[in-house]
Amino acid sequence: MGQETKTITAETPTSNFIREIVAEDMVTGKYEGRVHTRFPPEPNGYATIGHAKSIWLNFTIAEEFGGLCNLRFDDTNPTKEEQEYVDAFIKDIRWLGFDWDDRLFYASDYFEQLYDWAVQLIKQGQAYVDDLSAEEIREYRGTLTEPGRGSPYRNRSIEENLDLFERMRAGEFPDGARVLRAKIDMASPNLTLRDPVMYRILHTSHHRTGDKWCIYPLYDWAHGQSDSIEGITHSICTLEFENNRPLYDWFLDQLGIYHPQQIEFARLNLNYTVISKRKLLKLVEAGYVSGWDDPRMPTLSGLRRRGYPPAAIRNFVSQTGVSKANSVVDVAMLEHAVREDLNEHAPRAMAVLRPLRVVVENYPEDQVEWFDMPIYPQDRSRTETRQVPFSRVLVIEQEDFTENPPPKYYRLAPGQEVRLLGAYYLTCTGVEKDATGRVVEVRCIYDPESRGGQTPDGRKVRGTIHWLSAAHVQPAEVRLYDRLFNNENPNIVAEGEDFTANLNPNSLEVLAEALVEPALANVQVGNRFQFMRQGYFAVDPDSTPGRPVFNRTVGLKDTWAKIVMSSE
Ligand code: ATP
Ligand code: MG
Repeated sequence: MGQETKTITAETPTSNFIREIVAEDMVTGKYEGRVHTRFPPEPNGYATIGHAKSIWLNFTIAEEFGGLCNLRFDDTNPTKEEQEYVDAFIKDIRWLGFDWDDRLFYASDYFEQLYDWAVQLIKQGQAYVDDLSAEEIREYRGTLTEPGRGSPYRNRSIEENLDLFERMRAGEFPDGARVLRAKIDMASPNLTLRDPVMYRILHTSHHRTGDKWCIYPLYDWAHGQSDSIEGITHSICTLEFENNRPLYDWFLDQLGIYHPQQIEFARLNLNYTVISKRKLLKLVEAGYVSGWDDPRMPTLSGLRRRGYPPAAIRNFVSQTGVSKANSVVDVAMLEHAVREDLNEHAPRAMAVLRPLRVVVENYPEDQVEWFDMPIYPQDRSRTETRQVPFSRVLVIEQEDFTENPPPKYYRLAPGQEVRLLGAYYLTCTGVEKDATGRVVEVRCIYDPESRGGQTPDGRKVRGTIHWLSAAHVQPAEVRLYDRLFNNENPNIVAEGEDFTANLNPNSLEVLAEALVEPALANVQVGNRFQFMRQGYFAVDPDSTPGRPVFNRTVGLKDTWAKIVMSSE
């Protein structure tokens, strides 16, 4: 493949040790100038922000060096894997902005070849059928300080092994009766080399191969060979597979087949978050969340529904760096990346989440004025505007009014004047209360001279609040989210508890009486906005005609930017 090599230097801001290895291999011509990576998910759950890091790394390295990246499902465990998960991964990786053309593969495509290679190892005297139970195999394996013991079945003849393995495939034995193991070294200091299991019996239908097989390869037996079949050059995986590398090498060497290079990096971990699919599955199954795409989930489908732009996720994972040392990233850094993107791109609008009625006593009953307001005030190059109606009865945020203002309360209070964003100055003259003493209406007068937010006398008001014209509002539902877990590390729990003990019971607040600008009557699912003073919001799929549902993506307050600034 004729391809250009870019020079990677220590100064390249986004450089990382894996790119340096690849760049070096390009220079030395290790794979004839080829770069071929793959992203290999197991379809036993939905893609997470953790997977996004691996997806980004594999696809961008291939892209940068003019190479290719495959998508391969490691579907070797039919008891946990489903087509639903395959479909979700495909959708989410595309959404994240990556493409594998026609290179979509499955480990299950290789079952026949893997079987033949197992037979080859048996014939070479390097694999045997073991009748020990799973429990016994564990016992015989030994520990880090004690060598293992050989199974009594370890020295079966090649003929007997071939016969038994064939009968395993033919379905003669029940689940768990026998396994095929590699014959390596029961005394190896690396436990993965102590005769690892290659095949187990599972009379379970597979989402792709149906009932064709009742023996299934273990991940360890499938993974390296799948890479080899696809001609992968750099097999990038996470640190927990470091110990397995000698095993993958051993398999490839004994089979005498093409050998990719495995490179391990540290997983992405986030505080206040669990990322393991097994734990996320538990949240879904136990009903702690509404599904894999619940906007509180760290899944890509959840983050999409929450309103996270794919570019922000790509920026974030690239900013977290690629390392050999495990660490935990502050979730505020992810939120910062989301805010940066939305601040730049999100159209502005006004929404009142908890409405309070305001009557402007000196404004004519039947008059309506339409204010022209910029949609993208953050971007001077854009001039689009929206029409926002103003009339005698308004709604404002309940928290923007108080009868008894504390010091430095610059919003609306009896006798106090505020600026209505983009409209007039308003002074509170009184309140109406219901029988319980709750304020149900605020009475005000406006200054007709202050149109657009200025007065001839140049007097200043300190507070600015958002508002809507009551007669023109679009009703909406707004969902506010807080962290799903109360603890920075949700996995730290008291004895007898599991991570769900750390769930935040108040992670979702539904505001059913929210109101938005009439211009938002026809929003589409996935549209994102900044509601002035409230944060960023995205339109949820639960929206119905006439009743949009908005998820708060993030608030406006950027704790990460603060941390970064104070450390500078
Ligand atoms: P889980 O525990 O969530 O099931 P996994 O590693 O078993 O995680 P896979 O579907 O097997 O999930 O992972 C596919 C690829 O994504 C692997 O190469 C894996 O190393 C990588 N990956 C998974 N989680 C992370 C993470 N948190 N950070 C970086 N890469 C990850
Ligand atoms: Mg896994």
